[in-house]
Amino acid sequence: MKRILTIGTGGTIASELAADGLTPELDAAQLLRFVPQVNRLCQVECIQPFSIDSTNMSPAHWLQLADCIHRHYDEFDGFVITHGTDTMAYTAAALSYLIQNSPKPIVLTGAQKPIVSDNTDSKINLMDSFLCACSALSGVMIVFNGKVILGTRAQKTRSKSFKAFSSINYPDLAYVQDGTLIPFIRPQHTGAPVFYDRLDAKVSLLKLIPGTDSALLDYLLSRSDGLIIESYGVGGLPTARGSGFYDILEAGIRAGKAIVLTTQVQNEGSNLSVYRVGHRLKRDLGVLEAYDMTTEAVVAKLMWVLAQSRQPDEVRRLFYTPVANDLLFPLSDA
Ligand code: ASP
Repeated sequence: MKRILTIGTGGTIASELAADGLTPELDAAQLLRFVPQVNRLCQVECIQPFSIDSTNMSPAHWLQLADCIHRHYDEFDGFVITHGTDTMAYTAAALSYLIQNSPKPIVLTGAQKPIVSDNTDSKINLMDSFLCACSALSGVMIVFNGKVILGTRAQKTRSKSFKAFSSINYPDLAYVQDGTLIPFIRPQHTGAPVFYDRLDAKVSLLKLIPGTDSALLDYLLSRSDGLIIESYGVGGLPTARGSGFYDILEAGIRAGKAIVLTTQVQNEGSNLSVYRVGHRLKRDLGVLEAYDMTTEAVVAKLMWVLAQSRQPDEVRRLFYTPVANDLLFPLSDA
């Protein structure tokens, strides 16, 4: 029988209704009492490094999770992390960079309704997750509402309904129907996993709106090693006289900051070369672009990259090196 480690972290799945709203109360072992069928599938052990609403998740928690999997990696065949849905896609992306090339499955799951509710999606999500953790799938993935989504491609796209997650710019890896796993893609992981234990948390994100004050860029750059700007469409920044964006970015890059442009549009990604408002950013300033990566993946990747190096050439090389199929865009013009 396969041995699976369940890592409880809190979230709605583990919540009970308190006077001031849902709060995580149940630990991983208590959650598993609701799905006794799991014991017919595998041998499970539980660990509870913390118990939080995932709104409180931070890069320090991601390092703690990666370290927990690293320490127990050889003892288990797969891992199931129960997690709040709100930041699950960020954690999935972070773990994809912190634990690369894992031949064992590392599954994140949670629920939109607590396991103690009558109409909960928790039990099916847990059952499906253990099925995936016992399967030949490998690497980091989210299992939710019957879908298996690659960790670097997941995004929370619905705030209330059970189909909370989507795979962005990449197909679902598999789906689970009535207890049967139907795989479409099997990520290839041969050899040993590579674990990392550092992230540079000084990364920030600015979502552009028409009329954004460029002084905000200045402020964010002063507080960050890396800045991600979510601009519009395939990407660009205001060029109107006096808007100030280019000068501020140029100074930031001279000061050794990494700057990445991405898009607010959920599907199909950026291509800065298309418009004049984007072209110069890339050609003259050396701004990086996200292409088809999700914002969650860009945030986690930049934290991982900047913890490896602050040298611009090395930052560029690492950022544009695909990890766990996070980036498929033809990179010849990067
Ligand atoms: N606020 C909760 C969390 O992310 C939402 C959820 O789990 O669905 O922890």
